[in-house]
Amino acid sequence: MELFFFHDLSPGSCFFLPKGAFIYNTLVEFIKEHMKRDFQEVISPNIYNNKLWETSGHRQHYSGQMFTFEVEKEIFALKPMNCPGHCLMFSHRPRSWRELPLRFADFGVLHRNEVSGDLTGLERVRRFQQDDAHIFCSIEQITHEINSCLEFLHTVYSIFGFSFQLCLSTRPEKFLGDIETWNFAEKQLEASLNEFGKPWKTSPGEGTFYGPKIDIKVQDANGKYHQCATIQLDFQLPLQFNLTYVGKDGNDTARPVIIHRAILGSMERIIAVLKENYGGKWPLWLSPQQVMIVPECPTCKDYAWQVCQKFAEAGFMVDVDLDNNKELNEKITNAQLAQYNFIMVVGEKEKAAESVNVRTRENKFHGEMTVHQAINKLQKLKTSRSLETERES
Ligand SMILES: [Zn+2]
Repeated sequence: MELFFFHDLSPGSCFFLPKGAFIYNTLVEFIKEHMKRDFQEVISPNIYNNKLWETSGHRQHYSGQMFTFEVEKEIFALKPMNCPGHCLMFSHRPRSWRELPLRFADFGVLHRNEVSGDLTGLERVRRFQQDDAHIFCSIEQITHEINSCLEFLHTVYSIFGFSFQLCLSTRPEKFLGDIETWNFAEKQLEASLNEFGKPWKTSPGEGTFYGPKIDIKVQDANGKYHQCATIQLDFQLPLQFNLTYVGKDGNDTARPVIIHRAILGSMERIIAVLKENYGGKWPLWLSPQQVMIVPECPTCKDYAWQVCQKFAEAGFMVDVDLDNNKELNEKITNAQLAQYNFIMVVGEKEKAAESVNVRTRENKFHGEMTVHQAINKLQKLKTSRSLETERES
């Protein structure tokens, strides 16, 4: 389908071809649209002085997985996570309790220095983007915020047709901070999980060094589980960066809590999961091959091309089959096998009526309609994000 490839000259960093880039961008837009109400998008640097990573603890606990280099005799590193940068954004001016919860979303490019032998397609890469967000909130706001994350997750995964499993990962052997804070954080997550009402399990010792987390494993259409989303509570990073805000009592020493959360996780990995899940049959809204225009005869080629342009202008991923050496039926079958969601045949009759004859890859016939009607119909189906557009009328 020509979605992406890898090259020896940049191991672990994917080249997304136009059709792959379409899926990538559509997923990012989808998440942005759903986040609009509650989150503010920010853009943060990729390169930071090692002093930042010392403050965050990454130099001590994570340096093996970071790309570091020298700039003007100082050590810098490519960010493996957005959080330390967001801490600088939180603390660049005094903050008040009125601003909390402060929710920063960031789709920044991340790099992790995975051993080349561990790199496996899109599932394990060195360069990736997350639908990342950090919520700075008060201790009292934790349960509400975690619940909103779980609701959001539920909405997104229902659209993909995924079911999921929830798991609470608790304090590991190597950890930052004191045990009381860890116990409190774990209790908060337990309370949210219970309130959410879906079954959940515990993975003892599987938390990160800075806090406990809720791991979410999604189950695809083949019954396979994948780790994508994560919701992590962090009492340590606000301490490391000495983050404070002015509380209701007027004191400027109140300490926020950080919630790290990603719903799709890495865009790269979720594309691998979705690709396998749909087995090439992408739902219309995510499909990089939404429409194929097929002219019935050589005299209709110009018209076919015009129709193709109209669909492209309306924002569809559309192609036209102008091959002279194939019969009409062969072209239709090829487009169906290539998993184009909709195939539109145009002949002399359609040319005169400025119409198209519509069928789906499942060979459901929608018959003749004007180009305008067909565009409207497909726009509606695209917006619905239905998984069944090729079977529905
Ligand atoms: Zn984070």
